[in-house]
Amino acid sequence: MSAHISIPMYQRAVPQRYRLTGKRCKSCGKINFPPKAVCKYCLQGASFEDVRLSGKGAVYSYTVIAGGGAPPEFETEARCKGSYPVLIVELEEGPRVITQMVNPPKEGIAIGMPVQAVFRKIYEEEGVIRYGFKFSPA
Ligand SMILES: [Zn+2]
Repeated sequence: MSAHISIPMYQRAVPQRYRLTGKRCKSCGKINFPPKAVCKYCLQGASFEDVRLSGKGAVYSYTVIAGGGAPPEFETEARCKGSYPVLIVELEEGPRVITQMVNPPKEGIAIGMPVQAVFRKIYEEEGVIRYGFKFSPA
């Protein structure tokens, strides 16, 4: 199986993956996460300052990956768990992120439910463990 993300690409993404560092546009003030070369909100700003995001947010939307629908890097996890939830979380600073959920509540996931980022192993590929954030009920 080939790597889905090259090591250099992965290393460049470390600030966002490990520290939830976003980029505040100096033109419009909105936070781009993941970082972009040009601000995705005003399409003008190309100058940014780093902002450490709180990791707090709320469930904007979600789905459950099941029935062999997992991408290749998550096949093993999907086989072990049967299914796993994936969220779109709206962070309190504004950006929305796609993430897996850990410790989903027995009563089910709800839109608007408060969640908090937790640092986890995401997957292992070619002997390299990829870490990053998942979200847990807050
Ligand atoms: Zn902007």
